[in-house]
Amino acid sequence: MSLKENVYSLLNRKTGLKVNVYVYKGFLVIIFLLMFTECSKNIFQVVPGHWVSDIPFIINHVGLEVVHDNRIYESEHILTFSDASSDEYKIRFATYAERAFSELMQSFKISSARELGIVDQNTKLTVYTIKNLQTMQMAFPYGFLLFGEDSQNYMQWPLEMKYRFYREVKHEMMHVFQFLFGVLPNNEFPRHEPDKWFNEGIAEYVSGGFFIPIKTVEELQKWQKDPDHVNPISVDEWNVIPGGQSRVSEYYPVFGLAVRYLLSSRGMNKSLTDVKNMFLLLAKNKTDFASAFEQFMGLSLVEYRETFFERMELFLEK
Ligand SMILES: [Zn+2]
Repeated sequence: MSLKENVYSLLNRKTGLKVNVYVYKGFLVIIFLLMFTECSKNIFQVVPGHWVSDIPFIINHVGLEVVHDNRIYESEHILTFSDASSDEYKIRFATYAERAFSELMQSFKISSARELGIVDQNTKLTVYTIKNLQTMQMAFPYGFLLFGEDSQNYMQWPLEMKYRFYREVKHEMMHVFQFLFGVLPNNEFPRHEPDKWFNEGIAEYVSGGFFIPIKTVEELQKWQKDPDHVNPISVDEWNVIPGGQSRVSEYYPVFGLAVRYLLSSRGMNKSLTDVKNMFLLLAKNKTDFASAFEQFMGLSLVEYRETFFERMELFLEK
């Protein structure tokens, strides 16, 4: 029996229909269409937009203006700037940023950008893809600067980091969401913003981890054995860590793990809505991080710090 006859007889048996050549061809067309639809989901869908000019790029909280080439891509929620990137790279960056924006809107159950105060061109987020400029990468209210895929910096990355470029964009977008929820950088005391470990942990968690997440007890124990490593939950500021911000690649995976535990059904079983509500309470400046954390995450910061490694070992063993 030929393959075609096999399919005929199978369809006859399964459907009880008398399958002929037309039904068989129709069947093939449906299979082809299904395959095409599935494949097309993976094709890079460019975000729609248009080119605008004469808008300054300002890092608001420090009042610093960054020069750009004055060819700005405006998409639904975002203005994308650069010093020298091609149109193609700007649009790629805008596409990543819009995608991260809409995924975080869904994760935090926000139905409209209006809720976040994005209503017109003046209130859109501003993101900057750096090609040649010597500047810092950072998130700020309300946008971020990152080295783009066409920068020297990116070209020197190992391949597996290049693969995680989108996660880096989403990591920065998480910081921006925290600002959009009203938790702005401040030097007040008591502090009305989360500790550094939580800021970076939540950004690593929602993005899937720009740095590879810790997945096993062995990886955690190896991390803990380094005499230079301090308890992650004690990292409220970078200066707590020997080496400070130069150690981010060592600390981000363990910060991400700390947040994963809080939000896992096998850990504290909290949700991103709890995280959002914690941010909103902090934004009202009615409380400090320790109190807000205890209220929404179900344990105190002190308890979490003191029991951190025991909790993580049980969590990773499960
Ligand atoms: Zn970060």
